[in-house]
Amino acid sequence: MTATLTHFIDGQRIADPGGRSGKVYNPATGEVAATVSFADKALTERAIASAKAAFPAWAAKAPLARARVMFKYKELLERNRDELARLISSEHGKVLSDAKGEVTRGIEVVEFACGIPHLMKGETSPQVGTGVDSFSMRQPLGVVAGITPFNFPAMVPMWMFPVAIACGNAFILKPSEKDPSTPLLLAELLRKAGAPEGVLNVVNGDKEVVDVLLTHPDVQAVSFVGSTPIAEQIYHTGCAHNKRVQALGGAKNHMVVMPDADFDQATDALMGAAYGSAGERCMAVSVAVAVGDAGDRLVDRLAPKVGNLRIGPYDDPEADMGPLVTREHLERVKGYVDLGVEEGAELVVDGRDVQLQGYENGHFMGGCLFDRVTPDMRIYKEEIFGPVLSVVRADDFDQAVGMINDHEFGNGTAIFTRDGDAARQFTQDIQVGMVGVNVPIPVPMAFHSFGGWKRSLFGDHAMHGMEGVRFYTKLKTVTQRWPTGIRAGAEYTMPTMG
Ligand code: NAD
Repeated sequence: MTATLTHFIDGQRIADPGGRSGKVYNPATGEVAATVSFADKALTERAIASAKAAFPAWAAKAPLARARVMFKYKELLERNRDELARLISSEHGKVLSDAKGEVTRGIEVVEFACGIPHLMKGETSPQVGTGVDSFSMRQPLGVVAGITPFNFPAMVPMWMFPVAIACGNAFILKPSEKDPSTPLLLAELLRKAGAPEGVLNVVNGDKEVVDVLLTHPDVQAVSFVGSTPIAEQIYHTGCAHNKRVQALGGAKNHMVVMPDADFDQATDALMGAAYGSAGERCMAVSVAVAVGDAGDRLVDRLAPKVGNLRIGPYDDPEADMGPLVTREHLERVKGYVDLGVEEGAELVVDGRDVQLQGYENGHFMGGCLFDRVTPDMRIYKEEIFGPVLSVVRADDFDQAVGMINDHEFGNGTAIFTRDGDAARQFTQDIQVGMVGVNVPIPVPMAFHSFGGWKRSLFGDHAMHGMEGVRFYTKLKTVTQRWPTGIRAGAEYTMPTMG
């Protein structure tokens, strides 16, 4: 008998309500590790009602009081960092050191949210007219929801709910059904930190839950992170129901290597960015654009390193990367490698048949490296989301930039060069939301904002940082004067101050 993971509603894990469920795997062994209950419409509505009931009192609290809950939450998260990382790794497969890094990046958003009294300050203009003052304030929206992907079961939910809740909203999280244990623990810890019941509810499930969240009149805003087709669908449906929606989608991140780059540095950067977390990162580099004569030098350095990647279960401290999340995903990624060969790309390193002794049923594969990939190939156009790096060759800088700007995705990109002019030109011209200069995975810090361009983000707000505060609040502007300043008589013309 495996354990059944349920839902966190009204401040506690609820008993298994029965009904539909899904399987959660141990990716290293391929075994079923747990069952996760899928909420139906009625249970999702119960969570929305719980959040709605919690909202008024939570919103009425002083921002400082909400910040103090966040300070306590940060402390509890730090105390539970190892357990959170173990839960992430055991269901996702990423190595423990990587999972700890994920938890740290999530905690950084909580640290940002601790500053909410300052972040929610409005603007004041005294004396906009004689005896008339104007000021603005930001107020929370009400019940807001987040729908998150499998690849960061701690960090991506934490891009959303700490900021939303610190702003005074009540939050409903619908995590990925592939690794639901971590979000449940995150919710338990927030309750322990002092968040009243209903302020954060976690509802596990699939499309059935999401459809309720997208259409229910009591949900004011929806944050989504996942693949582009679902992001687009979520954006359209949520907007059609008059909600604010920010929907972050897939990616195909290019790293340009100029001929004058430090090749050892560029190679190490590519290794970590392409194969870390088995390539299951929305900011993974999946295309290296080698400019001029950089191609051979780069591939010669990369090939032995890719071939020597250490593959292992998450608790192997020597492992560079773990298994893929599910067998289905493993087969999909291998299918892309088959396709690349059919399309005529040169498969320099083939990791398709890598097997791990003692873990024969695990979802493992080795790193794959393609050379001479061209923009017309599907392996170039589509997101593979696995340990597969494609090298594309460009004649010059302009061709490299053109290629990136023509791609449907615009999440992250990077340039490796010693030439300041080239780097500056790149940061100006590139049609991508997050850009690195000699930094391969330019994930913005919590006090900046995370978000791509083009079909990597639907909506107009990125996540966390001030963009997050704006997304989860409405602006109100007050113009006031007091009776002694009121002039006699009605005015029928457009009011002007003075
Ligand atoms: P996914 O789109 O399959 O699932 C994301 C969420 O949507 C999950 O909670 C899932 O249950 C739900 N969902 C799936 N199908 C649905 C449907 N038809 N209707 C409603 N909800 C549905 O994505 P995934 O496989 O979990 O995650 C990987 C994807 O996420 C990749 O494309 C990756 O690039 C992307 N991602 C993007 C970012 C970013 O910041 N842009 C960050 C992380 C991951």
